[in-house]
Amino acid sequence: MEESEVGRRRVLWALAGLTLSSLVAGDAIRTSSSTSVASSPHAPGALHRPPAGSSHRHAPPGWTPKGLKARRQPVHSLRDLAPAAPGNAVALTIDDGPHPEWTPKMLDLLAEHEVLATFSLIGWQVQRFPKLAERIVRAGHQLCNHTMHHPMPFDRLSPRRVTAEIADAQHRISDTTGVAPRLFRSPGGAWSRQVVHTADEHGMIPVDWDIDPRDWSRPGTRHIADSMLACRPGAILLCHDGGGDRSETLKALRTVIPRLKHRGLSFVSL
Ligand SMILES: [Zn+2]
Repeated sequence: MEESEVGRRRVLWALAGLTLSSLVAGDAIRTSSSTSVASSPHAPGALHRPPAGSSHRHAPPGWTPKGLKARRQPVHSLRDLAPAAPGNAVALTIDDGPHPEWTPKMLDLLAEHEVLATFSLIGWQVQRFPKLAERIVRAGHQLCNHTMHHPMPFDRLSPRRVTAEIADAQHRISDTTGVAPRLFRSPGGAWSRQVVHTADEHGMIPVDWDIDPRDWSRPGTRHIADSMLACRPGAILLCHDGGGDRSETLKALRTVIPRLKHRGLSFVSL
């Protein structure tokens, strides 16, 4: 991508509030009302960043992103995922839902603060609570595949089970919401070459995090807030709306979101 193109897209992004993946992949604009824009599972994603002067720079739509196949590690920060993202951006990722009690509260909180986030959905939870998955998409948030049943340790599963967990969740999420996730997060952040490779094969970017407040362990609102407030621009933050009582998480975010905004950071979905 040429420098002027990066600058142009930055401006467009700022004006239109695009999600990062739509910006980088150059595909359709997703708005809060679009529930039927299914991303191509094989569209070139942000991971393919050819070296300067590469003949792939202006590759036509539909080309095979060979760079994806070479990936060995998941993405940890916005710099890896979307080099054209604004310098003050951070991304909030919310895992293990949808959950009937906590997801609606999380969505209300995000709406109140006008924050777009990325929800890592468990396929089985989507099957149980399809309306909540639809509501997440309607609100304009991004989706990430977080396996069908969240088995752990995920990196110890057989290749056949890894594939089934990823593929089953992808079908369930796509069928329910009309959106095929282009991001994948391994349960517990347990990555192996096999897991990364399988996510690649299904057209998904493997996404990890760099700020983990361990909110799932209920360490106290203060601990969660302090961990998240330590983030720097470009950070991918992890928290949860599923897997148990998330009242501490919600209480922490009530403080964290306005304070990070006050520091000049802006929240983007991936
Ligand atoms: Zn999880």
